[in-house]
Amino acid sequence: MERRIGRKLIIIAIDGPAASGKSTTARILAGRLGYTYIDTGAMYRSVTLGVIKAGLLDELHRDSSKVSGVIQDMTIEFRGDRVFLDGEDVSEAIRENSVSREVSFISSLKPVRDRLRELQQQMGSSKGVVMDGRDIGTVVFPEAELKIFLVADPRERARRRHAELSLKGGGDGVPTVEELEEEIRKRDRDDEERTHAPLKRHPDAVMVDTSTMTIEEQVGYVYDLVVKIVGE
Ligand code: C5P
Repeated sequence: MERRIGRKLIIIAIDGPAASGKSTTARILAGRLGYTYIDTGAMYRSVTLGVIKAGLLDELHRDSSKVSGVIQDMTIEFRGDRVFLDGEDVSEAIRENSVSREVSFISSLKPVRDRLRELQQQMGSSKGVVMDGRDIGTVVFPEAELKIFLVADPRERARRRHAELSLKGGGDGVPTVEELEEEIRKRDRDDEERTHAPLKRHPDAVMVDTSTMTIEEQVGYVYDLVVKIVGE
């Protein structure tokens, strides 16, 4: 059994734009607290991959009302930090650029959001979770005891994403920092401007600008806020 701080279990919602440091912060924080980490972006990415693999992307771009039928039988589950779509480990495949380019379109569709919101609410129902995404504090768990909104300068986010992709050995296939910044800005725009559950800060969310913070500083900052709520 991992160590648990404080007496009460809470829900920690971490929202923010692409590559703002959400998943790194959330994962380390969850480990430190003995909480479960739930990466909701991975869920939207999994649905997107499922649509691409089924060869239905073009059809949905023409007529998005067909999406309900397409997602009806999809199953998404986490086992540790791996994500499974219909029983298959897709943890790497969902990070491909082909998925990143289409995920904002798929996640703008109401039936997709309704289905995943329900799943996320079930996953967090026993509390003791750190959940990251775009609408966790506003829509999925507006009653979360701690809501964080992470932001960072777009160029800095592109640099981080570039370093991450280069480290994974993408070689010449890694997009330039400029290309990544353009992609990130477009995804932010799409996520902020969509009708259903757009990316926005809940008025209670604590805004943290990570542009000049190290990962350790980001985690430490949020950890201290948790301690203030649950006690030592
Ligand atoms: O967090 P990540 O960048 O992996 O998320 C991928 C995409 O999934 C986002 O750009 C957004 O379109 C969508 N998403 C969402 N709501 C969430 C989490 C992710 O719409 N709660």
